[in-house]
Amino acid sequence: MAICYVARAKINLCLDILGRYANGYHEIATVMQSLALGDRIFLEAAAGLTLTVEGEPVPEGEANLVVRAARRLAEATGYRGGAVITLVKRIPVAAGLGGGSADAAATLVGLNELWGLGCDTAFLAALGAEIGADIPFCLTGGTALATGRGERIRHLPALPELGVLLLKPPYGISTGEAYRDYDLLAPKWEPVAAAMAAAFDRGAWREALGYCGNAFEAVAFRKHPELARLKQELKEAGALAALMSGSGPTLYGLFPSVEAASRAAQVFSGRDLRVIVTATTAAGLGRREESPLDAG
Ligand code: ATP
Repeated sequence: MAICYVARAKINLCLDILGRYANGYHEIATVMQSLALGDRIFLEAAAGLTLTVEGEPVPEGEANLVVRAARRLAEATGYRGGAVITLVKRIPVAAGLGGGSADAAATLVGLNELWGLGCDTAFLAALGAEIGADIPFCLTGGTALATGRGERIRHLPALPELGVLLLKPPYGISTGEAYRDYDLLAPKWEPVAAAMAAAFDRGAWREALGYCGNAFEAVAFRKHPELARLKQELKEAGALAALMSGSGPTLYGLFPSVEAASRAAQVFSGRDLRVIVTATTAAGLGRREESPLDAG
């Protein structure tokens, strides 16, 4: 019997790039928000480790973050067994939605359960941070301020459920390439994450959304000017806030309800865009009673 976890996508409500560490990593401050949209990860105990991917194409072998997380967990705990893993991929790839990190986090939590390891969240977060800076956030999800490389998490009072309209152009942006472009362009940036987090702390989420801003937009919009136009269109379609997520290229609009997001989605139909309507959620990694057949 397989166990199933939902690995949720995230958006960045704001993202500051504050500087660069001596090791080349960038120091950031970002407020991350989980979405209902998620991949499904099915895990079953086995002698060896195998991964099958359905849906969006991603590498199936050692390059997959699911396999990397599984190997790292086995190595760190001395566990000798394996697992048959099925990843049903729904989150667009290289989109700024953190899908790979969500999958790795779900793998760590799922295998911890399947293998009966008893590791606590802090241990899994430390392992996850070695693989990707967004993984500690994905372990718990909700609404959180992430600092350092993005691996230091402080949970914030949750955003209420809002409708989310995602617009994903037909190309990806690699995070490494986005940082290189950012360093070359070195745009001026006024940090917003601390002010946004303070507004969330006061329970003033509407005010918090006034601080939406993403340092990567300047570089992405320069390379892909249509992204700036889409952002403007999201605002004109009634979004409470519209922004690029992570290093892009996905743009999102936040709407008062899922119905309002669905109505706004009609404006963008028939274009060369992937249009997804989802919602913000306070739920972190979801454990599900599902079989791979249900996930479609
Ligand atoms: P972020 O917002 O954290 O920068 P992203 O949404 O831009 O992430 P991902 O979709 O997480 O990017 O994946 C980026 C790269 O990682 C892709 O090039 C992909 O081939 C590779 N990858 C490896 N494993 C996975 C996985 N399980 N899901 C998605 N991508 C994966």
